[in-house]
Amino acid sequence: MGNDDLVKGLIRSGLIRSDAVKMAFSSVDRRYFVPPEQKKDAYLDTPLPTMDGQTISAPHMVAIMAEELRVESGMKVLEIGTGSGYHAAIVSRIVGPEGRVVSVERVPSLVEWGRANLRRAGIENVMVIKGDGSKGYHLEAPYDRIYYTAGSPDVPETVRGQLNEDGIILGVVGPARGTQRLVRYTKKGGRWEERTLTYCVFVPLIGELGY
Ligand code: SAH
Repeated sequence: MGNDDLVKGLIRSGLIRSDAVKMAFSSVDRRYFVPPEQKKDAYLDTPLPTMDGQTISAPHMVAIMAEELRVESGMKVLEIGTGSGYHAAIVSRIVGPEGRVVSVERVPSLVEWGRANLRRAGIENVMVIKGDGSKGYHLEAPYDRIYYTAGSPDVPETVRGQLNEDGIILGVVGPARGTQRLVRYTKKGGRWEERTLTYCVFVPLIGELGY
C-alpha cells in the first residue's frame, strides 16, 4: 500500500474529480506528515492523531475540501489550523509556484512540526504563522480563498473581510464537540451566498472568536 493506492481509492470513490486535485494528491506523499509511530497507517483514508490531542484530517475530507474550494493556480489562500501541514501541502500544489498558502496554527509544537514536515516534503510556498487564526490573519490579507480545518461557532466578519471579491470561504460550523457542517461562503457583488456541502467532525477552533 502506497500513496498511489490512496489516490486511486479517492478517484474511484469520486471524491477526487479534477486533474489539479489529482496531481496535488499524487505529488504529496502523506508519509511525511504522520508521526513515526503512525507511518504504517499513512496511506489509510482515516484521520490520524498528532500531538496535543489534535488530528491530521482524513484524505477524503481534504479531497472534498480541495475540490469545493475551487482553488486555481497563482491564488493566495489562508488556512486556519496547520496541524501536520498535509492539507496545506495539497493546496500549495494546486496554487503552484506563483501562488501561496498562509497557514495559522495556535499550538507552538505543531507550528514547528508542521513546518518541518513541509520542509521534508519539499514544499516551499506555505508560510506557517504561529497565532490565533480565529481572527484570520490580516497581515497577509486579502486572500482569494480561506478555509478552516477546525470547527467554529461561525465565520466572523473580521475573517470575511480578509477575502477578495468573488472569493470563497470553506467554514466548519457547529459545536465544539459533535457534528459540524462544511459550509461554502461565496462573496459576489458585496453579497454572501451560503451553502451547506456536507457534515463533518473536526477538532474545535480554540481562540478569541472560536471556543
Ligand atoms: N490541516 C490539518 C488539520 C489540523 S486539525 C492537517 O492536515 O493536519 C486542526 C488544527 O487547528 C489543530 O492543529 C489545532 O491546533 C488548530 N487550531 C485550533 N484552534 C486554532 C486557532 N484559533 N488558530 C489556529 N489554529 C487552531
